Amino acid sequence: MENVISGNHSILYFVDGNIVIGCRNSAGGMTYFRVHKGYLASQSTVVSDMLTLPNDQGNHDTHDGAPLVNFPDSINAEVMATFLTFFYEPSHDILTPDDTDLAYKLFDVIVLADMLMVDKLKKSILDRIRQDWAIPTLEEWQRRFTRFNAEPNKWFYHFYEPASIIRVAQRFDETLLTPLQFFELSFRDHLLPYRLVPPLSRDYGYNLPDDRPNPGARWELITPQDKYRAGHGHRLFLEEFRVRLNGLLCSTENWEPRPNEPCQQLKDGQDCQTALKERVQDMTLDFLRGCHPFKALAEAKLGSERNHFFPDGASVTVIHDECADRWDRVLEETLVHLFNKIPLFYTELE
Ligand SMILES: [Zn+2]
Repeated sequence: MENVISGNHSILYFVDGNIVIGCRNSAGGMTYFRVHKGYLASQSTVVSDMLTLPNDQGNHDTHDGAPLVNFPDSINAEVMATFLTFFYEPSHDILTPDDTDLAYKLFDVIVLADMLMVDKLKKSILDRIRQDWAIPTLEEWQRRFTRFNAEPNKWFYHFYEPASIIRVAQRFDETLLTPLQFFELSFRDHLLPYRLVPPLSRDYGYNLPDDRPNPGARWELITPQDKYRAGHGHRLFLEEFRVRLNGLLCSTENWEPRPNEPCQQLKDGQDCQTALKERVQDMTLDFLRGCHPFKALAEAKLGSERNHFFPDGASVTVIHDECADRWDRVLEETLVHLFNKIPLFYTELE
């Protein structure tokens, strides 16, 4: 038993506590929590029984003069610390809505709360996760996406990790499942594990296309059926995406922004269609490289960018303001249309 560090927990060890809980820590030693038996026992009858059991069985282990209850090794000290923090530091921001990986980090705590039948705690964690995925509109999706991606970042993006929530839902509450989780999953790189930090490029910082810029997912947590549901939706989504883009480009051929001035009459042999085709090509490439589809679509909007830049750096205005506004409008409609199709495409499969 060398290199095994045992000791009292630095915070959750109260001198006036009247019972000590021992749990195996990740270093292989024991971590001790000195807590208040009456307070914890009031949380559930299972906890009450667990804290009472040793005395009834004539077990009189003690630690620091207080009765000691050793928990099974399946409940490690780190999980116990988080569990107890909910009771002793209710203001602690464990359930922060800013954490995109909460369903993964708190999985073992939910398991423990479930085992000990501390329903209130279990419910508050599941409610937090439900809130994370209550995204009824594209506008709400965009609001959250912007919050998690405050720094403009062409390739890499943060959003809730979808596989971990699917695992939580399937084990504890199937009503937590939403088609949006499978949609998000379907655009993660199938070969990459989940990562919060963008890949670094030796020369230019991060975000080069060949860095595989997608955040990946916790694929190991879900079943082949879940992957199939994501993949099935993905095929339907891509087909719709392709049809809508073709329709968009075809419709621009007949645009006539001003009477007697069709788009084809713009100067220097360029026309609005050419500019828009380039936009669509760029967007398709972004998309293929692992950029989020909604991000790629949103970035294909022209906004105030109405010039075409040639490789030599010269630029020329090649799109009517009317055409640019119209393009941005139809792109927004396409975004809303695709968002609203998600429940249909990523439906539960029989
Ligand atoms: Zn035009």
